[in-house]
Amino acid sequence: MTMSSYKKNMCFSCGRPIAPYEAAVHFPCPQCGDVTIWRCERCRTMGNTYKCLRCEFEGP
Ligand SMILES: [Zn+2]
Ligand SMILES: [Zn+2]
Repeated sequence: MTMSSYKKNMCFSCGRPIAPYEAAVHFPCPQCGDVTIWRCERCRTMGNTYKCLRCEFEGP
C-alpha cells in the first residue's frame, strides 16, 4: 500500500474523521483507482462532492 501516509477513515467531503460504527462508504477513486475515497453517512445522504487526493477527480 503506497498511499499509507494518507489518513485513513476520514471523510473526503467534510474532512471529518469517520467512526468505525458509522454507516460510511468507501470505494476506490473512479478515475485513478489508487485512492480509497471515504464518505461519511451524512455527506452520502446530502450528496456532497468529494475530491480525490491524487488525480483531483471530483464526484458526487
Ligand atoms: Zn462527510
Ligand atoms: Zn483519483
